[in-house]
Amino acid sequence: MADDKYSQRVRGKMASTGRSKKADRMRKMNSKETLRGEDHDYGAVFVEGPISVNATDLEVGENVELGSSKPWFQGRRVVELDVLARSMNCEKCSSWLRLSDIKDEVIYGMASFLYISCRSSACQHISLVPTGKKSNGKGFDINYKVCLAMINAGMGPSHVNNFLTGCNIPPVDASTLRKKQKELAPVIIEAAEASCKEAQREELECSECSELEGSFDAGWQKRGSGWSYNSHTGHASLIGINTGKVVEFDVRTRNCSICQYYIGKNEPKPPHECNVNWTGSSKGMEPDMACSMIQRLAEDGYTVGTLHADNDATTQSRLPRSIIKKR
Ligand SMILES: [Zn+2]
Ligand SMILES: [Zn+2]
Repeated sequence: MADDKYSQRVRGKMASTGRSKKADRMRKMNSKETLRGEDHDYGAVFVEGPISVNATDLEVGENVELGSSKPWFQGRRVVELDVLARSMNCEKCSSWLRLSDIKDEVIYGMASFLYISCRSSACQHISLVPTGKKSNGKGFDINYKVCLAMINAGMGPSHVNNFLTGCNIPPVDASTLRKKQKELAPVIIEAAEASCKEAQREELECSECSELEGSFDAGWQKRGSGWSYNSHTGHASLIGINTGKVVEFDVRTRNCSICQYYIGKNEPKPPHECNVNWTGSSKGMEPDMACSMIQRLAEDGYTVGTLHADNDATTQSRLPRSIIKKR
């Protein structure tokens, strides 16, 4: 029974089929010659004769053996120097550890644990050295940072991995990035809402009258032609005319992967955090978002006096009569 689901071991622990498949995939990706092999020397300056690297060049102790085929020695890593510098002592006898004594490396996304053996012949204890900070009980910070950076740059997991492999840095599994994205979503939404509240105050302070003036526009994730709009998600923002800051935003989603999965299997949906907040047409999202944004602003005590929007009859017709519409 349990043997079917947990058939393989990953890092010494019994793992589900999905987890072990992921581990296999990562192992395969990391072992690829093109990924973890020798770097191409684009832009390298040709120097005649052998190059010797010694302690003064690298600051890692004595002579470092170059050309080793050990996996930890290949490619690049993103390392927090401060964390690494402070962890380079033996856990048992606290003598200095050397990077050249790394015995093994276990990679967690973009960070890793280095297994470094003690140089003292009497001790030889193997210490676990992290390459970055870990926030209380959670994973390595860098894995959250890379997810935030991905969102900020408007990329997806495959773009991130294309970039990382191009730099010869071990790639991060797409599912790890998606998991972090889910964890970060509420934090990002909270920050966005706080920023909007602050912008509303600022906008009113800069305004000559007691009403707000702003520019509104909506967009869809999927391109719509003049007569066909069928995107499953739409977003809108209202930008203050004085500050140029976003004072309100909204999102409409009419698709949920969990709902779709159970509908497809013709089974009842289990209770889940459903994102669906729209059932109408994609084009209908725009006026609805405009109305709910103006309503939310009104609830917070802000009146929108003038709204600049595109020449969209549906949006114009649904806005309250008191608003002056400009385009
Ligand atoms: Zn030691
Ligand atoms: Zn759902």
